[in-house]
Amino acid sequence: MYHCVEHCEDDNFAYAGEQFADIQMLRYKVNGLEALTQRQHTLIWHLAEAALWGRDILWHQNCRYNLPIRRLFEHIFRSYKGDRTSAGFKAFELYLKRMWFSNGIHHHYACDKFQPDFSREYLLELMRQTDVEGAHSDIFADTLHTNDLPQTLDELLEAVFNPQLHAKRVNQAEGEDLLLSSACNYYDDTITQSEAEAFYEQAKSKYLDSIEQSQDDGYSKGPVMLGMNSKLVRANDGSLQEKMWVEDGMYGPAIKKIVAHLQAACDFAENEQQRDVISKLVEFYRTGNLRTFDIYTILWVAETQSRVDFTNGFTEVYGDPLGLKASWEGYVNFTDPVATERTERISREAQWFEDHSPVDARFKKKKCCGVSAKVINAALLGGDLYPASAIGINLPNNDWVRSTYGSKSVTIGNLTHAYDMAAQSSGFREEFIDDAETLQWIKKYGDKCDDLHTDLHECLGHGSGQMLPGVDLDALKAYGSTIEEARADLFALYYLADKKLVELELLPDEEAYKANYYSYLLNGLLTQLVRIEPGRNIEEAHMRNRSLIAHWVLDNYPHALQLVTNADGKTFLRIHSYSLLRDAFGALLAEIQRVKSEGDFDAARELVERYGVTVDAKLHEEVLARYKKLHLSPYKGFINPRYETVSDDKGHILSITPHYDESFTEQQLRYSKDYSC
Ligand code: ZN
Repeated sequence: MYHCVEHCEDDNFAYAGEQFADIQMLRYKVNGLEALTQRQHTLIWHLAEAALWGRDILWHQNCRYNLPIRRLFEHIFRSYKGDRTSAGFKAFELYLKRMWFSNGIHHHYACDKFQPDFSREYLLELMRQTDVEGAHSDIFADTLHTNDLPQTLDELLEAVFNPQLHAKRVNQAEGEDLLLSSACNYYDDTITQSEAEAFYEQAKSKYLDSIEQSQDDGYSKGPVMLGMNSKLVRANDGSLQEKMWVEDGMYGPAIKKIVAHLQAACDFAENEQQRDVISKLVEFYRTGNLRTFDIYTILWVAETQSRVDFTNGFTEVYGDPLGLKASWEGYVNFTDPVATERTERISREAQWFEDHSPVDARFKKKKCCGVSAKVINAALLGGDLYPASAIGINLPNNDWVRSTYGSKSVTIGNLTHAYDMAAQSSGFREEFIDDAETLQWIKKYGDKCDDLHTDLHECLGHGSGQMLPGVDLDALKAYGSTIEEARADLFALYYLADKKLVELELLPDEEAYKANYYSYLLNGLLTQLVRIEPGRNIEEAHMRNRSLIAHWVLDNYPHALQLVTNADGKTFLRIHSYSLLRDAFGALLAEIQRVKSEGDFDAARELVERYGVTVDAKLHEEVLARYKKLHLSPYKGFINPRYETVSDDKGHILSITPHYDESFTEQQLRYSKDYSC
């Protein structure tokens, strides 16, 4: 997420929190709770509790060493009585904070394992002084019924100190076995990529037969997301089987807690439909039935009347190199009515946008349905959305559900606002934009355009277009996520320059879009490189997408833009023709839609590998050096508010109040204490 927008300080709220490693902690403000009813407060409370109880699931999904290593480190951190100001202890504390931020021992974004800046001997010394032996059973307790935890302190030390071991959480490098080379915990360590692919290939055909013959439950039928809620393990006889993440299976103890709060939330649902949504989710957590999951998402998409909404469960597949297994996430939110009006204005015109898009008629939806969109305020972030969070979310992920029943899109207004506020006066913009006019333009319109870009991406981009009949939804394999993000971004970029947005009174000026074009390309070509370590390639799908778009345009439309170097050897972006740029975005959108609709794997690979992955080493070095001088953090994440409840003498919640007084460390220790099974 790139923001280079200046705001005036609108209040004294401390948006920016502490900085460590490459991280800047932020706080988001939960405004508007006072306008909600007692029932809504209680609903938010239970949904928030349900969102916090999934924390350990995600830690375990990310790597099977994570939970015991966290417990070991937290035990030391809490009980060490020696010098806490020494360089060694500071390095130990930093490692712990980075682990907290990433929900494990791998970088949350780059996926590389952290390298400790303290020695094995020092850690052993800390362990001796804090009676780790006495805490042994707690550290290794199989609290989530996973049956796959390491058993000895030696194994944990190896995981921390041996750089070769579990080096990458998600490996996407072509030519390697993606499972054997990834440390994420969705497949047993010995299962190879081809074994897993064969397993799900076979499961798919079996499943397709059974869905054909299954009873009519009143909803359309379509392929479920096989494998999304299980770990693939090897049985004693060598065969592969799924270990389900259900109430009385793997992760059962945490799921039970989640289910209990969801059931409590049911009593305070805002309407009958929302009650059905929550009940269906509970049923899914109990049975693990993927058809039940699809119906739950269908009900969830249709329920648009309530003010309070939530996501809770196995959702995004970025953490699995094969893109099947869904990481756990949860968050709670309520709508911001004023800003929502903006996205509704876009969504009402969904068909117009679809009809006028530059893609081939065969790939267009004849009837755009159910693109509901709203601006929300986050009340609590959990699982894979915490502390680092998305600012726009579009769900569900199952393509056939989306095309048949539509999807729900949200922009999280109070997170975006916190980013903007923290970005002001950082000096970043001045360093990378040397032309005063562009700078002015971005100051004036950057913020509005960025919001609108997110709206268009989420409300229209992801929901646009259609697959050709018979094309396998997984045809693009590992390139699917990048292509999908590129499609949504290009849709947004193409339409930002359209007069339609001025007509809809979403932009004040027909040239306002230039602010977004400039910052988007600057990000894709230069500034997002600050998030990549020297010598590494781009791994993450959203970043690959931005690089793909920017470099494709640079290559194919040399008259529209160029990179120039000034006398000091600094590189800057020059845009010569914004209208040519719009043509370029339109042309690439048409091609990317074709690739998606036809499932053209070779073309997807060519686009992503050629434009999205590799980094120009010299340019990278320059950008990192310029960035370093600014002393900014490339990654940001959020500290949740701490909620205080007021209850009556029977224990019924009367109201909840957010407090912003907790440090990141206090919050993490509290979560570990209160939300571990
Ligand atoms: Zn997206």
